Amino acid sequence: VVILGAGFGGLAAARALRHARVEVLVIDRHNYHLFQPLLYQVATAGLAPNDIAQPIRSILGRQDNAAVMLAKVTGVDVARKQVLLDDRRVAYDDLVIATGARHAYFGHDDWEAHAHGLKRIDDATFLRRKILLAFERAEAATDPASRRRWLNFVVVGGGPTGVEMAGAIMELARRALAADFRAIDPREARVTLVQSAPRILPSFAPGLSRAAHRRLEVMGVDIRLSSRVTGCDALGVSIDAARIESGTIVWAAGVMASPAGQWLGAETDAVGRVRVRPDLSVPGAANVFVIGDTALTQDRRGRALPGLAPVAKQQGLFVARLLARRARNPKARGRFAYRGVGLWATIGRRSAVIQAGPVRLSGPIAWGLWSLAHIYLLIGFRNKVAVAASWAWNYVTFQRGARLITGDDSNPAPRDAM
Ligand SMILES: Cc1cc2nc3c(=O)[nH]c(=O)nc-3n(C[C@H](O)[C@H](O)[C@H](O)COP(=O)(O)OP(=O)(O)OC[C@H]3O[C@@H](n4cnc5c(N)ncnc54)[C@H](O)[C@@H]3O)c2cc1C
Repeated sequence: VVILGAGFGGLAAARALRHARVEVLVIDRHNYHLFQPLLYQVATAGLAPNDIAQPIRSILGRQDNAAVMLAKVTGVDVARKQVLLDDRRVAYDDLVIATGARHAYFGHDDWEAHAHGLKRIDDATFLRRKILLAFERAEAATDPASRRRWLNFVVVGGGPTGVEMAGAIMELARRALAADFRAIDPREARVTLVQSAPRILPSFAPGLSRAAHRRLEVMGVDIRLSSRVTGCDALGVSIDAARIESGTIVWAAGVMASPAGQWLGAETDAVGRVRVRPDLSVPGAANVFVIGDTALTQDRRGRALPGLAPVAKQQGLFVARLLARRARNPKARGRFAYRGVGLWATIGRRSAVIQAGPVRLSGPIAWGLWSLAHIYLLIGFRNKVAVAASWAWNYVTFQRGARLITGDDSNPAPRDAM
């Protein structure tokens, strides 16, 4: 079994195959598994990159039937049952594609140079650099307009990532950096959250959206609802008829599936997700499965499942079990059904919203549950301890330990590069 991608879906599949009578090869372009839900905390200096990532080899090191290959996949030859890499081909009997998604600018790729998305470790450390440098540049600026521009932060997209980023930047400015500068007062920083829909967190119940909205406003975030970004450039953002001069624009407005649909010549939806059969295999190729953010799957009522870690994990587990059964009985069949675990988002250091079945929670209790759940879900004992210790320290001292400006001003590697 060849598994492409060691994110939530691919890793769940690989680990669930540990007792199956198959040989597993996991191919990823990075040597680490990344816990994306906490990326925003790396971008805002709350956590260090290695707190939320773990080498794939160490995760699978004790699994005798699993091997790992660091390589970028460039295509799939379904007829010959081979995966195409930059410099060679790898044969498979069964293939599981779990190559995730990337941020997308929907026809405005030129905005990428100015509005930075958050998907990989490199994106997070790049944004951390941009955000921290903005305060340094404001401190050094001699004219008020330029100082104002450096202290304006714009987050585009009012889903969970945008809400979490806006809250975290605001807290960085108002708490962690408050006493560190002389020429500027970081507390004067302005964070604007731009959302095209009439409410933030539109996938949550309206009451939770309102609770998150109120909380962000109390924190000082300026929320622009039903507002569309019409331009991004080096000096700021155009929003419908308005203009915000800003040196830091964070893009949290949209994602596009990995190009697996093109590799397979399969039917996809508007955001590139492959339409799969109920057993997650690709129509016309019963031994090729697509899972996670790259797949278009539905719940019992026919609604598309969202791009969430639990969806990817459950799909990885499902495919692994199906393959293990097929190793014993080639006629084994299955049908994937998602068991929802709810929607979660944090708003700053003491508030969160949780929607799980009939349960609706907001405020500090939701934040406590959110924190415990994320520590539990992190892979690796070291990471669990490191994150718990960092959060406890940040909570008590209001400090952010990972406030390092590293790297250079060039964009991180292009979205499709290694
Ligand atoms: C900032 C952010 C915050 C999020 N917050 C939450 C949250 O709070 N809760 C939640 O449930 N979900 C959250 N998500 C979504 C969740 O992370 C995804 O739904 C989940 O990661 C999807 O799993 P996956 O296995 O499909 O893909 P991923 O986990 O993205 O893994 C894809 C893997 O494929 C590899 N890969 C990609 N292309 C290639 C290639 N060409 N060759 C080789 N390897 C390749 C990548 O390196 C990666 O390791 C968040 C996502 C982001 C970006």
